[in-house]
Amino acid sequence: KIMRENVYRRLLPEDFDANTPVIIDERGFSWTRPKLDTLISNIASALLNIGVQPGDRVGAKIDKSVHSFCLYLATLRVGAVWLPMNTAYTQAEVELILSDASPLVLVSSEPMEVPNVACFTMASDGSGTLMQAANNTRNVQLVYRDSDDLAAILYTSGTTGRPKGAMITHGNLEFCAETLADFWGVTRRDTLLHALPTFHAHGLFIAANTMLAARASMVFLSRFDPEQVLSLLPRATIFMGVPTLYSRLLASERLSKALCENVRVFISGSAPLSAETFEEFRARTGHSILERYGMTETTVITSNPLSGERVAGSVGYALPGVSIVALRKDGGLAPVDEVGELVVKGPNVFKGYWNLPEKTAAEFTREGYFKSGDLVRIDSHDRIWIVGRNKDLIITGGYNVYPREVEACLVSFSAVRDCAVIGVPHPDFGEGVIAVVELKEKEVFEAKSVIADLSSRLAKYKIPKKIVVVPSLPRNAMGKIQKNELKEAFSSAFSSESCAV
Ligand code: ATP
Repeated sequence: KIMRENVYRRLLPEDFDANTPVIIDERGFSWTRPKLDTLISNIASALLNIGVQPGDRVGAKIDKSVHSFCLYLATLRVGAVWLPMNTAYTQAEVELILSDASPLVLVSSEPMEVPNVACFTMASDGSGTLMQAANNTRNVQLVYRDSDDLAAILYTSGTTGRPKGAMITHGNLEFCAETLADFWGVTRRDTLLHALPTFHAHGLFIAANTMLAARASMVFLSRFDPEQVLSLLPRATIFMGVPTLYSRLLASERLSKALCENVRVFISGSAPLSAETFEEFRARTGHSILERYGMTETTVITSNPLSGERVAGSVGYALPGVSIVALRKDGGLAPVDEVGELVVKGPNVFKGYWNLPEKTAAEFTREGYFKSGDLVRIDSHDRIWIVGRNKDLIITGGYNVYPREVEACLVSFSAVRDCAVIGVPHPDFGEGVIAVVELKEKEVFEAKSVIADLSSRLAKYKIPKKIVVVPSLPRNAMGKIQKNELKEAFSSAFSSESCAV
């Protein structure tokens, strides 16, 4: 059902208590609703004076700060479309996105020049050319849109290929924020220690929007620094991270039960949380990390329960209102415990890929379910287990190898910090299995004994034919391993070999 809507109204409703901080910045400065309102209104007036109209895209390659967060909120307020870009992107990557999304303006931390786009700057303290266009006396009214109008375009991070612009609607954002606030029991008594980037769905829609919708507060950190997070944890009731952030916290000797006493829930998403990290974190802090799963195109899909058992390795259950099934290759339903592709339907599912109607159509089933590309197993309790991604599935000599199963075995070796199992062309088997491994500091690793150990745990065809140790695995800004880079780097690893490996 399409409704007149603007998610802004849900994020910063009029009845916000005027004295309670909505955001506390790194300097300890409290941003109450009236202070934020003035800033957002100023930024919105700058956007209007530049000529931004409802539906126009506002591009941003900007460092995380309260000011850049308010630029996002101002964009929503004037009915325009937020187009965030990873701050690590090169000029070429930015230009690729801009030429596809054709925004009217680009706001960046550092001055940039891009053909056909009006470029402005905004530093973390708000200074820069954008605010020179602001009109401090103008109170900018909220522009209503339809619930299926675009609120944002997020380019998927490209772990599996060229970035595509996922069109996210006001209705999607509203559903995500309200469902999560409800499911995780977030209230105005909560404080989130916000240490994630805000150019990604995780930091922006799942973390920040949910806190706003629940009228909770956020301590806003410009970047993740483990020692700073540990110092501030006693002030937080919620922490959200990607698995790499949890590994980094675990690497500090300061992490303790006492530091986490006030925290109600630690939440993880964006990438698989290993059973080792889950268990180690529980042993050190007494907390079972609550793992959830989703993707840019769907914001959230599943979550482990707030109360009730959180099982290591499972991403929990479908959220209320979200319908999921696992499909076999032939399109039939995968029976309980059998691996199939997860397809999803519900108010969380995006509108499609920007400028790619055919790609969009190909990604939905005839019944309107979005094909996630993730391979899952749904058990008899409706609990969901992600076994890998369609594109990562390795077929070696006709056998299917799910990299996650092999990766889970490898990370159980104490010397291994992280690893990626990939398939690369093999003259006899089609694809050959390779493990690329990053070791913990000062650890040694004997590939022979590891392989011998794996032989007792895995069928022969799943055992990596090569194990390569690298100083560090290539990761994106969310800490996700870039398997496509590894596949390219090791593409000829078996090219000169015969069948006897
Ligand atoms: P692209 O879609 O371009 O390949 P990407 O993978 O980085 O880029 P995102 O939308 O950021 O795109 O990531 C979504 C994917 O991350 C999911 O499809 C899933 O494979 C993985 N993922 C997210 N959360 C979890 C989780 N809790 N456990 C396992 N995998 C997860």
